[in-house]
Amino acid sequence: MTMDALVRRLPAALTAAAAVVLLAWPAITDFYSYNAAYYNGLVASAAISAILTISLNLSMGYGGLLSMMHTGMQLLGGYAVAYTTVKAGLPWFAGVVAAMLLGAVFSGLVLVISLRATYLYFGMITLAADLIVVEGGNAWDAVTGGINGIVGVTPGGLSKNQFYYVVLAALALVYAAQRNLVRSGVGRAVMAVRESPDTAAALGIRPTRTKAVAFTFSGAIAGLSGGLYALQLGFINPEVGILDNGLVFFVGLFLGGIGTLAGPVIGVAAIAAVVELIKDYARYTTLLLGCTLLLAMMLVPKGIVGTWRAARFGRPPEGVDHEPSGDLPESVLPGAAAPDVPALEGRGLVKHFGGVKAVDGVDIRVDAGSVYGIIGPNGSGKSTTVACLTRFHPVDAGEVLVCGEPAAARPHAVAGQGVTRVFQTPHLFERQSVLDNVLAGMRGREDYGLVSAVLRSPGYRRREAASRAEAAALLAFAGLSGRSEQQAGTLSHGQKRLLEVVRAVASGPRVLVLDEPATGLVPAEIDALARLCRAFRAHGLAVVLIEHNMNFVMDVCDRITVIDSGKVIACGAPAEVRAEPAVLDAYLGRPDLVEEIT
Ligand code: ADP
Ligand code: MG
Repeated sequence: MTMDALVRRLPAALTAAAAVVLLAWPAITDFYSYNAAYYNGLVASAAISAILTISLNLSMGYGGLLSMMHTGMQLLGGYAVAYTTVKAGLPWFAGVVAAMLLGAVFSGLVLVISLRATYLYFGMITLAADLIVVEGGNAWDAVTGGINGIVGVTPGGLSKNQFYYVVLAALALVYAAQRNLVRSGVGRAVMAVRESPDTAAALGIRPTRTKAVAFTFSGAIAGLSGGLYALQLGFINPEVGILDNGLVFFVGLFLGGIGTLAGPVIGVAAIAAVVELIKDYARYTTLLLGCTLLLAMMLVPKGIVGTWRAARFGRPPEGVDHEPSGDLPESVLPGAAAPDVPALEGRGLVKHFGGVKAVDGVDIRVDAGSVYGIIGPNGSGKSTTVACLTRFHPVDAGEVLVCGEPAAARPHAVAGQGVTRVFQTPHLFERQSVLDNVLAGMRGREDYGLVSAVLRSPGYRRREAASRAEAAALLAFAGLSGRSEQQAGTLSHGQKRLLEVVRAVASGPRVLVLDEPATGLVPAEIDALARLCRAFRAHGLAVVLIEHNMNFVMDVCDRITVIDSGKVIACGAPAEVRAEPAVLDAYLGRPDLVEEIT
């Protein structure tokens, strides 16, 4: 075996070794130390911290939701277990379930009141929530035991060693849940919303619901961690919830690698080991954590795992170029719309921005089974027209119909009706792989939810296998199949544009709206785009094409509308439009375009 191959296997080998050591830990400490209970407790506490850090990773890393209330949720979980076991006299696992429920409900409530908050405001709201939980714990004596908290919290008939294995099993399950979630369509939707709520909505993903799912799930895991923590400590009090205690989780997450699967566990393990080594100088622990965070940010901003993945051995192999091959997979193409009803129609659309009449009474009628071109000088209102048709902008006047029905009010719902938009500016999920970008486009058509994904239910597995097969066929059609594992951000400009189109096609649209897709594409890529447009038409679907490349537009479109200063100045077959004097006038300021058009 070559050196390279050996190094590539290092993570798997280390994981196996760590698992063996953790399983044998109570036996090892029993054999080597007079203080086995202390060392077992050390590992159990680190595992509980790792569970909380995974929860933080789900909300902050994958969900992009800055949370300052994770210690607060841990405290809530602790209260849930303490109350259920000590005050209500129920078994410890009932307490753990209650802890998860409480964590989920609390985080769900916080999310609901902060739906419109941006990143920083969301963080501030969670900070407030944390303070409220801690002070609520201090004040509500009857339930929480006030400042002293609740003591005598024990895991019923379990020995300390048995409880150690319960904690280990919980960590393994939470890790598996995180992995299953992140690798499913639910996780891809969460990351899509993190990258750009607009892009996600254009693909039919509901931004709000997706955030709610991620944050609530994260809350349940934080509650679990808190419940186990109370059982491990034997008590719970408001001290647990204060923000200071959250430091170790943030540092662990950033050191290990935020937004990676193993990062939280590795980071927390590293910190636990260091804190143990300097325990004789415990008063410097916080100073050390501060320095570690600073150094991690400066030296390994991607964390240990992220740095490994960016390095030679951790990186997926470079992609290769393939010739486009195969046809569009039938399964991504919805049934053709009724031919006599327009697939997409805008009547009297008006959109003003202050004094700018960006769209000023535009009528558009896109037939099923056609490619519809929109051309016009820069700033004439083409993109705004499309934004009105897809509900990204509320219109000042006019109406939009999708297959004869009034268009829904929200962008994601319009996408659900079958109108998918590709933006003029690049909107790729650059940090995800090429394949994951395409799969994210399919989320709107997938029918499973969080629970099926985390448990990998048979229905989920079937759908996931089908999604992957469809994605592979789509990538082959676009000539990108050799690059499916590559990070999307490393593609060439033309490949990125093409990938955005492929991702939109993956959502299974009846009407595919492309805003200047051919800019910067090489001829072979333009050919792929043209083939795609024709395949759509052949299947009775529609394409709306905003484009400056006149050869391409004249070649592929059935009808063309020309917009100037927010008004339609010509509409008809390519040959008619080309001969229209008003069109030549509109392009007079752009001799290059006049040349192209005549
Ligand atoms: P095109 O796509 O044809 O180049 P746009 O639809 O992007 O044109 O823009 C039409 C006009 O509306 C331009 O004058 C532009 O500056 C203005 N505009 C577009 N979007 C906005 C916005 N969000 N706020 C204010 N003005 C805008
Ligand atoms: Mg535009």
